[in-house]
Amino acid sequence: MKKGWRWKKLLLKRNGIRLAAVGAAALFALNAWPAPSAANAGVPAEQVALKEHTVAVVIDDFGNRMKGTAEMLRLLIPITAAVMPFLPTSQADAEAAYAAGKEVIVHLPMEPVKGKPSWLGPRAILTGLSDEEIRLRTEAAIADVPHAVGMNNHMGSRATADERVMRIVLQVCKEHGLFFLDSRTSYKSVVPKLAREMGVPLLQNDLFLDDVYTDRHVGGQVLLLKARVQKQDRTVVIGHVGPPGLITSGQLAAAIPGLRRASVRFVKLSELLPPSAPYSLPGAELPGSASAELAPGSKLREDSPTSR
Ligand SMILES: [Zn+2]
Repeated sequence: MKKGWRWKKLLLKRNGIRLAAVGAAALFALNAWPAPSAANAGVPAEQVALKEHTVAVVIDDFGNRMKGTAEMLRLLIPITAAVMPFLPTSQADAEAAYAAGKEVIVHLPMEPVKGKPSWLGPRAILTGLSDEEIRLRTEAAIADVPHAVGMNNHMGSRATADERVMRIVLQVCKEHGLFFLDSRTSYKSVVPKLAREMGVPLLQNDLFLDDVYTDRHVGGQVLLLKARVQKQDRTVVIGHVGPPGLITSGQLAAAIPGLRRASVRFVKLSELLPPSAPYSLPGAELPGSASAELAPGSKLREDSPTSR
């Protein structure tokens, strides 16, 4: 398949499912028993069907035999596995995730403002590199992670704020038909502006689940997610394999039934992309999703080290 059509094919597939769901909802409304609740009275069936809250759970840092890898892939929700390139199990983890029915994206190592170089992993995108080298590394990263349909940044608080660097990375994504998820490790990220200008489908992280590696903290973040889904239709959360991997997979497994009862539908990240490509239209915004800003001054997470 021509690479440029990957996300378009995904969208077609998803729209088919959505149309089927809307059709089913319309049929249900026609034959509804008991009568629709007062809250939904007079609301077209299509709008009732879209009342669901969709959540995409992205798990970062696959690729280096990280703690919690198997546990995350066993979760009974369609997680998106962000796999770091050029590491010992990059390909094996991407293949395992794909075989488990999960979505795969490239987790591109990018230069942070602070942090140990050893946390970045090999062939990271650094702001001191030439245009050509940035392009080569981004191309090689995509080639190293099989089944990838998108990309997000590992660390990258410095690189995602650099317009020259991000223009090249996003251009390569565009050429390969990949969408980009801004992990939002920097308030100065130029990714939203450039993605819109360049017509690259973009999603943004709403919430890191595991900045602190304790059950108490991750449990608290899950509670934040529960509150958040009541306020917005689409939410992107990021957790990690590695140091918090067992804690986060355990907390997610425990929370999934309750979230489903609260009308949360878990989806692959690509299912949150807009139905057409609004980012080809200057100024277009992604409706509802992951676009609320993090409060300035709140703690930004740079990401976790690539070692266990
Ligand atoms: Zn990462």
